[in-house]
Amino acid sequence: MDYQKIIEDICREIRPFAEEGKQADYIPALAKINPDQFGICLRTVDGQIYAHQQADTRFSIQSIAKVFAIAIALSLRGEHIWKKVGKEPSGTAFNSLVQLEIEKGIPRNPFINAGAIVVADILISELDDPEGEFLNFVRTLCKDDTISYNEEVAYSEREHGYLNAAIANLLKYHGTIENDIEDVLMFYFKMCSVEMSCRELALAFRAFTCHRDFNYAGYKLTVSQVKRLNAVMQTCGFYDEAGEFSYLVGLPGKSGVGGGIVAIYPMKYSVAVWSPRLNSKGNSVLGMKALELLTTYTEESIF
Ligand code: GLU
Repeated sequence: MDYQKIIEDICREIRPFAEEGKQADYIPALAKINPDQFGICLRTVDGQIYAHQQADTRFSIQSIAKVFAIAIALSLRGEHIWKKVGKEPSGTAFNSLVQLEIEKGIPRNPFINAGAIVVADILISELDDPEGEFLNFVRTLCKDDTISYNEEVAYSEREHGYLNAAIANLLKYHGTIENDIEDVLMFYFKMCSVEMSCRELALAFRAFTCHRDFNYAGYKLTVSQVKRLNAVMQTCGFYDEAGEFSYLVGLPGKSGVGGGIVAIYPMKYSVAVWSPRLNSKGNSVLGMKALELLTTYTEESIF
């Protein structure tokens, strides 16, 4: 398969959509980003790399961090985590409060904000130095010690994160989170603020693509646990557009409001795309388009 040629063709074909959508502006530090950027990197499990355009520009990974967080939590607490957070698609916006109230403080899945805030609370309870250990895990996945939090983005989100604060309060009211609300929110925003490039994300997600030997920074998952995380990405990884992504792209993955999307073809490749302009559901317009064309042209998907 000539992935390089396919990727370059895709980049040409998505150009007409380049001005659709707009970047997330509810986090002021993200509103300043130049929206007209695009990068892509596909990495096969045997280490072949196909990159194009801004594959090496780092951006805010935002919700993509939720995959790293749930992997650590699953490694530490095993199946017990599913008592505090579900694994069903939500069908509502990533920051919705409504379902959480009806379902008495148990979030639908770990990839909506409420679920990730619960996972952040679990990591605070389990780890001596949650911020340091989370970052060390991500750095280990991509063998790169320069990956870091962006404090400006994290504090900018904390200052304006009224909805997430409301979610954390509701969770605390229902007894789903144990720790101090302020500590949980700040750690959650820090995780979301990590900056990585498409090349780094494609490498980091190798761990979830190649199901064998998941053992990074001391966190171990069985083959079955990694496959199950893939299943949760497939059903819940794209806010209330998970069905559309499954239909158009046909791969498990996770998006973030920074404009990044990572998708996985199990045992074959991981691919990361980034472009800040988002559609109304919060997913990157060019990112979705590029991945749709990738699986269409290669005729490869998990289905
Ligand atoms: N930090 C963002 C928030 O909590 C993450 C949202 C996302 O990427 O989906 O709103």
